Amino acid sequence: MSEFRVGLPSDKRWMEYKYSLAWVVQACSRCSNCKHLHGWRIKSHRFSTICPSLDYYLFDSHSSQGRMDIGLALISGKLKMTQKLAESLYQCTLCGACDVMCKTQNDMEPLKVIRELREICVDLGFGLPQHKAFIESMKNYGNPFGKPNEKRFAWMPKEVEPLPKADVVYFVGCTTAYLRPEIARASVKVLNSAGVKFAVLGSEEYCCGKPAYKQGYTEVAKEMIERNIRIINEMGAKVLVTSCPGCYTSFNEFADDYSDVKKEFEVLHLSHFVDSLIDEGKLKFTKSVNLKVTYHDPCELGRLSKKWTPGTEVLGDPRNYEIPRKILKSIPGLELVEMERIKEYSYCCGSDVGWAFPDFLMRTSRHRLEEARATGAEAIVSWCPTCINNFKHAARGRIRVYDVAEIIEKAL
Ligand code: SF4
Ligand code: SF4
Repeated sequence: MSEFRVGLPSDKRWMEYKYSLAWVVQACSRCSNCKHLHGWRIKSHRFSTICPSLDYYLFDSHSSQGRMDIGLALISGKLKMTQKLAESLYQCTLCGACDVMCKTQNDMEPLKVIRELREICVDLGFGLPQHKAFIESMKNYGNPFGKPNEKRFAWMPKEVEPLPKADVVYFVGCTTAYLRPEIARASVKVLNSAGVKFAVLGSEEYCCGKPAYKQGYTEVAKEMIERNIRIINEMGAKVLVTSCPGCYTSFNEFADDYSDVKKEFEVLHLSHFVDSLIDEGKLKFTKSVNLKVTYHDPCELGRLSKKWTPGTEVLGDPRNYEIPRKILKSIPGLELVEMERIKEYSYCCGSDVGWAFPDFLMRTSRHRLEEARATGAEAIVSWCPTCINNFKHAARGRIRVYDVAEIIEKAL
């Protein structure tokens, strides 16, 4: 047998080839499963779609299948990369809904390929100018917003005093710190009221790297996550708690796959930590929150929250669908109603496409808010600063928007 011949499926070389970009773009059966919800899951025509990119741009090139076609044409030399083509590859929220639909019948990784096509854009010099600006800011300031990093914890309430070192570290993340400080304030007040002693990284906290990873700047993301891990290891922390699902997946899946610095701590989303505090009797709800709400599953805390195991269907950590709902239902006076597309079939808020495509972002957020309003809820709640930020910009006063931490704070 030739040294380079690919052997049986148990062969390591075969497993490396399988799920690679070259394999997936050929293995895609062009079945279109990634474009819509399954018929038996559709509850109304209005909320029957699943791909924000296809919904907004309407061309097949903007579906997952279309992107597999583009990938195949690129690697076989039938198509050359252009700025227009690169733009179309970035007109996608990387929400992973197509990936969920694909995996209900195929053993493959279209979302991984869509992101890797962006690495190719960057390598060939076709990264978008809007992204280059925030990547530079990440390198120079430690955050994508060009804000001074020493102001990262300027929102800290006076009554909350983080320690220089503790077993628990609260990682605020860039979006929460600079765009939605009300979430940061509510989160630390919840920890404080449960008597949790925690530390923060202060101006040493840098972006987790997720925004760079999503746009194909994997090396920048790797540098960011490794820097953070090194500092948290030095602090001797046992648990890292973050209220941002993007940071949560960066410290978990991304770090596990790419970081050369090994984590010496566990990583939890605030929802997991709050759930344990409630179970241990350290956090009690004493006030009623008389509100009818609907819960939006963030992609990164839902279907993207756990690495996929080949041969399985359900994506994400099932705890992340149940815990926020369980906590909300236990708040006195609060009524939880469900939207049509939930859990792994949740419709994306628009994520971070607003850097380059603000109209696409606005349409996507508004569509999700329409679904929330159709439930009769007075408020949409979620547990992600990006979702909350997008919804607050899109809501136009038609529905209230809260992070779950803000709802908990009201109930303390
Ligand atoms: S990406 Fe998956 S679901 Fe979409 S056409 Fe290809 S095989 Fe089918
Ligand atoms: S990741 Fe989301 S927006 Fe992108 S192609 Fe898939 S479903 Fe559409």
